Amino acid sequence: MTTLIIGGGWSGLAAAVTLIQKGHSVHLIESAKQLGGRARNVLWHEQTIDNGQHLMIGAYDRMLAMMNLVGVKEDDAFHRFPMDITIHDTYYSPLNLSANSFFPWPLSLAWNLIRSVGVKGFFSVTKLQSSIPSLLLQEDVTVSEWLLSTSQPARLIKQLWEPLCLATLNTPIDHASAHLMATVLQDSLGKGQAAADALIPSVPLAEVFPHAAAHYIQQHGGSVSLKTRAKQLVIEQNKVTGIICQDGSTFTADNIIIALSPSQSIDLLAEHIEMNKPSEYPICTVYLQYSPDTRLAKPMLGMSGTSSQWIFDRSEQAPGLMAVVISAPGEHEEMSNDVLIKHVCREVHSLFPELAETVSDSLVIREKRATFACTVGIEKQRPQSQTNIEGLWLAGDYVANSYPATLEGAIRNGENCAQSLLNQC
Ligand SMILES: Cc1cc2nc3c(=O)[nH]c(=O)nc-3n(C[C@H](O)[C@H](O)[C@H](O)COP(=O)(O)OP(=O)(O)OC[C@H]3O[C@@H](n4cnc5c(N)ncnc54)[C@H](O)[C@@H]3O)c2cc1C
Repeated sequence: MTTLIIGGGWSGLAAAVTLIQKGHSVHLIESAKQLGGRARNVLWHEQTIDNGQHLMIGAYDRMLAMMNLVGVKEDDAFHRFPMDITIHDTYYSPLNLSANSFFPWPLSLAWNLIRSVGVKGFFSVTKLQSSIPSLLLQEDVTVSEWLLSTSQPARLIKQLWEPLCLATLNTPIDHASAHLMATVLQDSLGKGQAAADALIPSVPLAEVFPHAAAHYIQQHGGSVSLKTRAKQLVIEQNKVTGIICQDGSTFTADNIIIALSPSQSIDLLAEHIEMNKPSEYPICTVYLQYSPDTRLAKPMLGMSGTSSQWIFDRSEQAPGLMAVVISAPGEHEEMSNDVLIKHVCREVHSLFPELAETVSDSLVIREKRATFACTVGIEKQRPQSQTNIEGLWLAGDYVANSYPATLEGAIRNGENCAQSLLNQC
C-alpha cells in the first residue's frame, strides 16, 4: 500500500520519514527542482545561502527529534545560544531580553529586564505574562487589544512586543491573534531556559533537514521525484485513487497527503473540499556583504522604529555577510530592490555605526507568501489533517496546531498526519 505525498517542504518530508520508519511504502513528489519549500537553499554567485533567514528555538523539540532520526546532529546544523536578544531603537536605549547573568533562569531574565526597562517595565511584562491563562479562556482578541488591557507602556509595545509579534507571527499587532502570541510566549519563555535558546543554522537550510530526510526516505525504499507537479486529484466515489501531474503522467495511491502551503492546497483541492483561504504575508531578507572583517556584537540583533527588524551575522557562511529581516507587509514592499538596499544600509548604519553605510554586494529575496497571517480567530479556521474524502490527508504548517507558521509546526503536522493515517490502516 503506497502513500503519495505531494510537497517536499519540511512537512511533507516529515510525513514521509514517519511513514517509512513504520515500514510503509512512500512516494514523495515535489514541483520544484529542489526540496525544502519555504525553507530551502538558494545559490548566490558561488555560495549557497537561505531563501530567507530562519531562527529556530530550543522548544522546537519535534524538529530536533526528526533531524536526529534522519541522522543530522544538532551541533552540526546549529549554533545554540542562551536567549540574548537586544533590540536597538531609534529613540530609546537598547532593550535587553537575556538569560546571560550570574542569576539562574528565570531570574537572569528578570534581572536583565529590570536593568534595561526598570522595575515598572518589568512588572508590566509579568502582568502580561500572568494574564495568559485567562486570555486563553476568552474569545481571541488582537495583540494590540491584549497589550492595552494589560496597560503595557508605549516603550515596551514599540521595542519588545511589536518586534516579537512580527518575528513569531509575521503579523502586525493590530491584526495578530493574542491567543497565538500567548501560546508562543508560553512555549518559549515558560518551559525552562533550554526551550528559550536560540538555534541559528550554521549550514544552509537544506542541510539542516531536507537533504538528510530525502536520503533517509530513499535508503529505506521510498522514492522522491523532483520537478513533478500535481495538477489534479483523481477521486472516485468519495475515495482518492491517484493524481494527474502537469506533464500528463499519473500516479495511483491508496492514500495521498497534501503537504502544501495554504494557497497551493486550496488550488489543488478547490473542486473537492471547501477551505477557508487565509491571507498570506511576506517576509523579505536583505543580504548585505560588508568587508570580511565586519562582525556584529552578537549573532543577532533587533531593531525597532525602522523598516529593518533583525540583523543576523552570517559570517560563518561568508565573512562579513549579514542578513536583515523585514517581516509582514509594509512600506518596503513598494520600494525597488536598489532603493530598499540603500534604505536598509542607512538604517543599519544609524543604529550600528560600526557597520559601513555602503556594502560591496547585496541581494534582496522577497518571499511574498512566506506564512499564513496569524490573525484573530485563525485557530478556528485551520483544517484538521483528516479530510472527509477517504484516503485524502492534509499536512503543512497551516493544518491545525497551536503554532504559527513555523518549521516546528510544519514538522509536527507532517508527523501527526502520518500517524493518523497509520492509525487507520
Ligand atoms: C523568508 C521566511 C522566513 C521564515 N522564518 C522562519 C523562522 O525564522 N522560523 C520558523 O520556524 N519558520 C520560519 N518560516 C516559516 C517556515 O519556513 C514554514 O512554516 C515552513 O517552511 C512551511 O513548510 P511546509 O512544508 O508546511 O510548506 P512549504 O515549505 O510551502 O512546502 C510545500 C512544498 O510543495 C511544493 N509544491 C507546491 N505545489 C506543488 C504541487 N502542485 N505539486 C508538487 N509539489 C508542490 C512547493 O514547491 C514546496 O516545496 C519562514 C518562512 C519564510 C518564507
